[in-house]
Amino acid sequence: MERKVIIAGNWKMNKDAAAGRELVEGLKPLVAGLTDADIVVCPPFTTLNAVVAAAAGSNIKVGAQNVHWAESGAFTGEISAEMLVSTGVEYVIIGHSERRQYFGETDETVNKRTRAVIAAGMTAIVCVGETLEEREAGKLVEVIERQMTTGLKDVTATDCAKLVIAYEPVWAIGTGKTATPDQAQEVHALIRSILARLVGEETAQTVRIQYGGSMKPANAAELLAKPDIDGGLIGGAALKAGDFAGIVAAGN
Ligand code: PEP
Repeated sequence: MERKVIIAGNWKMNKDAAAGRELVEGLKPLVAGLTDADIVVCPPFTTLNAVVAAAAGSNIKVGAQNVHWAESGAFTGEISAEMLVSTGVEYVIIGHSERRQYFGETDETVNKRTRAVIAAGMTAIVCVGETLEEREAGKLVEVIERQMTTGLKDVTATDCAKLVIAYEPVWAIGTGKTATPDQAQEVHALIRSILARLVGEETAQTVRIQYGGSMKPANAAELLAKPDIDGGLIGGAALKAGDFAGIVAAGN
């Protein structure tokens, strides 16, 4: 099954509007010919408009880093899916480990956000992954099972056209430690088997599963060569046009 590679950059709380515009302007010529991968950049909310404008007409799509599940109302500080749609956003990262760790994100809220994003016509990039403690305690399978089963509750086979899963071992995020291609492949295969149980084998084969955790130009090609690794969710290396483009090139 051929799945189109998807490389997404999670800028986290970096880059104001001017810096975001500059990064995208620098990225555009570097990735212009790299059409075999979907390319997504996910800036902070306040940088979205500038980046959508800068990316217009290019092969770079724009994503957000979070969303609230309600349509509107008394939710101070929150942003709805329709608000994101109105800015030109097409992707939303959901359940990043930093949101789980620092902001109380749970599998239940991941599920609500995921369904809101898909209902609004955007693509949800749903993050799963174990901590080092969980891996060492032999709980890897249990953790991924729980995150997938609860996080994707009531997500249908049809919805899966708007779903990307990002496997991000927490111990590899921002640490410089990358999962080996074999370690990552093993979990990606597990994720695909859970998906097959949830939405059917045929649909599971169409869903792209990104790896995230210290991915860089030097290690991207060997990770992306694995059969169930269909892309990358990139943190640190997404903040430099050359590095991010190098990863996109590895996926082409
Ligand atoms: C991330 O935060 O999604 C991530 C993968 O970060 P890094 O690439 O910096 O490890």
